[in-house]
Amino acid sequence: MTKMTAKFPGSCKVCGNPIARGQEILWSREHGAINPECLPRLQSRLEERREQRTRMASLARQEAERLVQQVKAQGIQVILVTTRGMIEVSREKLVNHVAELLCKKAEELDLDPVAAVQLAAQGASERLSRVNEPQLHVAELRNYISHSA
Ligand SMILES: [Zn+2]
Repeated sequence: MTKMTAKFPGSCKVCGNPIARGQEILWSREHGAINPECLPRLQSRLEERREQRTRMASLARQEAERLVQQVKAQGIQVILVTTRGMIEVSREKLVNHVAELLCKKAEELDLDPVAAVQLAAQGASERLSRVNEPQLHVAELRNYISHSA
């Protein structure tokens, strides 16, 4: 962040207190203007967000493993249509894909990230348990995972 004086009145993006023109601020494109004394709070907030993302990603992976196992146990093949015909998606690719979808879905939910992943996975599991097809195209699987709960 760059140290400068405020050219316009505004408010601190951390504490919300007003900032007057000419007041000393820290500024960055990403975070806007903040009071210099609010920097530690901003840093701990960013750190917390990073930790939450890491926890969310690892939980999403676990839940994705479970969902892929459920799909296999139901005898469903997940396929991809390519120029060479239909191929079965590898387990590893499927888990990565499902984990990504769960994270995306979880970010749409206005909840604690861990709770959001669990909720997204639970919804997906319920929807998938009703599938009665021998094969699912990967795009159809995507709909079952990310369909709004
Ligand atoms: Zn502040």
